[in-house]
Amino acid sequence: TRWVYAFGGGGADGDASMKNLLGGKGANLAEMSSLGLPVPPGFTITTEACTFYYANGKSYPAELKAQVAEGLKKVESLTGKTFGDPANPLLVSVRSGARASMPGMMDTVLNLGLNDETVDGLAKLSGDRRFAFDSYRRFIQMYSNVVLGLDHHMFEEILDEHKDRLDVRVDTALSAEDWEAVVADYKRAVEGERGEPFPQDPNAQLWGAIGAVFASWMNDRAKFYRRMHDIPESWGTAVNVQSMVFGNMGESSATGVAFTRNPSTGENRLYGEFLINAQGEDVVAGIRTPQPLTKAAREEMGDVQPSMEEALPEVFTQFKAVVEKLEKHYRDMQDIEFTVEKGRLYMLQTRNGKRTAKAALKIAVDLASEGLIGKEEAVMRVEPQSMDQLLHPTIDPASPRDVIATGLPASPGAATGKVVFTAEEAEKLGGAGEAVILMREETSPEDIRGMDAARGIVTARGGMTSHAAVVARGMGRPCVSGAGEIHIDMKAGEFRARGRTFKAYDIITIDGSTGEVLAGAVKMIEPELSGDFATLMGWADAVRRLKVRANAETALDAQTARQFGAEGIGLCRTEHMFFDPARIAAVREMILADDEAGRRGALEKILPMQRQDFVELFKIMEGLPVTIRLLDPPLHEFLPHSEEDVASVAEATGLDPKKLLRRAQELHEVNPMLGHRGCRLGVAYPEIYEMQVRAIVEAACEVVAEGRPAPIPEIMHPLVAKGEEMKFLRDLTDRTAKKVIEEKGCQIDYKVGTMIELPRAAIRAADLAENAEFFSFGTNDLTQTTFGISRDDSGRFLGYYIDKGIFEKDPFVSLDTEGVGDLIRIAAERGRAARPDVKLGICGEHGGDPASIQFCETIGLDYVSCSPYRVPIARLAAAQAAI
Ligand code: ADP
Ligand code: MG
Ligand code: MG
Repeated sequence: TRWVYAFGGGGADGDASMKNLLGGKGANLAEMSSLGLPVPPGFTITTEACTFYYANGKSYPAELKAQVAEGLKKVESLTGKTFGDPANPLLVSVRSGARASMPGMMDTVLNLGLNDETVDGLAKLSGDRRFAFDSYRRFIQMYSNVVLGLDHHMFEEILDEHKDRLDVRVDTALSAEDWEAVVADYKRAVEGERGEPFPQDPNAQLWGAIGAVFASWMNDRAKFYRRMHDIPESWGTAVNVQSMVFGNMGESSATGVAFTRNPSTGENRLYGEFLINAQGEDVVAGIRTPQPLTKAAREEMGDVQPSMEEALPEVFTQFKAVVEKLEKHYRDMQDIEFTVEKGRLYMLQTRNGKRTAKAALKIAVDLASEGLIGKEEAVMRVEPQSMDQLLHPTIDPASPRDVIATGLPASPGAATGKVVFTAEEAEKLGGAGEAVILMREETSPEDIRGMDAARGIVTARGGMTSHAAVVARGMGRPCVSGAGEIHIDMKAGEFRARGRTFKAYDIITIDGSTGEVLAGAVKMIEPELSGDFATLMGWADAVRRLKVRANAETALDAQTARQFGAEGIGLCRTEHMFFDPARIAAVREMILADDEAGRRGALEKILPMQRQDFVELFKIMEGLPVTIRLLDPPLHEFLPHSEEDVASVAEATGLDPKKLLRRAQELHEVNPMLGHRGCRLGVAYPEIYEMQVRAIVEAACEVVAEGRPAPIPEIMHPLVAKGEEMKFLRDLTDRTAKKVIEEKGCQIDYKVGTMIELPRAAIRAADLAENAEFFSFGTNDLTQTTFGISRDDSGRFLGYYIDKGIFEKDPFVSLDTEGVGDLIRIAAERGRAARPDVKLGICGEHGGDPASIQFCETIGLDYVSCSPYRVPIARLAAAQAAI
């Protein structure tokens, strides 16, 4: 087997299409090299080697050693340097690189190959002893941290002691001798911690680093990131070993990152940051404040230090040409890492850049308008889930802003919450449902859970490409980074800015679109749904086949749904209407009634209210279909249970407390979700469903009488299992509707159908289709009844299943296409065989889940229905499923 692929010198063994094998970084390094771009030579150890490593008790394939040695030989001949040669040492970086980029989640080691001898060689060769020891101290720190597992604070403390001693503030002020002294202390500290000296053998260093990259695939950060982004553990990471180039060789050297378009707004303008005389992660680590790339950006920011365009004009011109070429080649916005060594440009990485939803939209629409991609491709470019970010509120421009501090607009959107200073606290409070804003000096990968639990993030340091900024954009969290006016005092539990002091838990608001941090809560406004959003949605709507409806009961939900483009209501749960405080008394009276007559009396009171619900919905939906599910939950859900509650209900309603309690006890069920609920209520107490059918048909007549578009009610019976049940319900529905239609003398086209939420219903779909004109797959319950897993209790144990890889995803979130999906497929086939025009849809959480929507497309359902805010997600996912 071939485990190693070389790149460099104007060619490569691999190319961009080999991401699965070489990881994203390795594949693109190979591609860039073949494009003739200046890429330092190196080689990639495949992801398959990583998979092998974990499948074989953390051991390497037998051929690997020889192949790595051969790869290293090639690099040596291309660079003219020799690994471990004290006179002319080759130094390498060892970099991880998975198929999907996982920024900052895994570890990189730079300057590998340095030891007490090669550092002298490097000093002589470069004529720059300061540079050589700067590189060595970086290497010792990184290697000790990443490979030997020593805490980086130890090194920072040593460096700070030296700086204090020398009375300097910035690293660049240290001389060669100073760095030599730092290196000596570093080595002593490492030996003190480990009981053995820092490894001097370059080969041992190399294998140590390769092992550490493989090991980092299983670290907690990486695991959490994978879970969050649905990246399978089985993919593994590649390892890239690449000859070093040095951005820390003085004033004509630099390192930087660039985006070919603005990753926050999508604006088509080169965007990025760089630092003179720096290496590696200095730019993103927030140690020094990086400078913009272009003169225009520098002028806008009012910065005093020169941009790259001004400081290194010749390299900048070359760089601009390279990045333009890359964007055209990949036909997408690129996120680029580069280094300039003594005026020479080197490309270290390119990938399709991560971006906010807003930027993704704009870039997709712009690239299509520029003719670089087609409209369908533009539709494929936007991740449906990310639309969520666009549908959430921003700060009302008209409301007053009490600005505490400003920073960089690192991730758009606004959020209000209690300020906390640690990720742990954000996780704790956020997990408990509180809105918190996480404020940090700067964030690091360890903070990722806290960032996820926070509504928004503020950092005092770091640029637009800092860890906080990149991760927040990926999560869709609003973020303000580099708000330098903020001084966090962890000990006092407060922060200060512009002469004001705020305590932990004070309410603040952040505006990630302007970079402002504001005191208190601020008025928010609903999102703008025109412009690029409307354009892309239009393209999506033109290609999708599946219709998209919304689950909605209230007028507000229905309005939101229509505004987001819903083409009907797929699920109106009538029980939600019963909980209205104005009518719950009548509902309880109905439940307490001793006989049918008593029940009918109470239902009389509910009828006009229920009718009014439907009138309102029908008006908003203007002739679009509205699926109304008749009463579904067990009746005891409407009764108070504890003695205390019973007493207060009795007092408020005048109902007899003893009777209330007795009835609640009578209705108690051991297993209510499999108990007296759904159409079983309609079978036992037909008068309840009769009242609901009457309310629906009367409402439709009323709306028609007002001269509005005729509603299309679809009356849906829940939890049906048998053909005979469906027949009984069909007769009940038709009989009642006919009566109303005759009374009112109006013409209403209604449909009668059922939810499919029991395995028996799916298997016997043909029986049901005799009397059901539509099926709506209630996949929440169907998942529950198919697995026999209670969805209300599954939270307690599903985690174990996901950890152990038995379930890849929570089946209540993403449809189990194998089992539950097969039942849906069977029901669709059998239903259609019995009634060719039976209408098929899905409601429940899965209706807004892109993977589940993909499945609905493959089996040819007619529509999906989801919560109003997910309608745009579903429209886009349905389009992608059709392409
Ligand atoms: P990440 O995936 O976290 O971005 P990288 O492997 O890209 O990690 O490495 C981080 C940084 O280290 C790069 O952006 C670059 O600045 C520096 N680096 C990596 N390899 C080299 C190299 N061969 N020469 C110089 N700098 C390098
Ligand atoms: Mg890294
Ligand atoms: Mg990188």
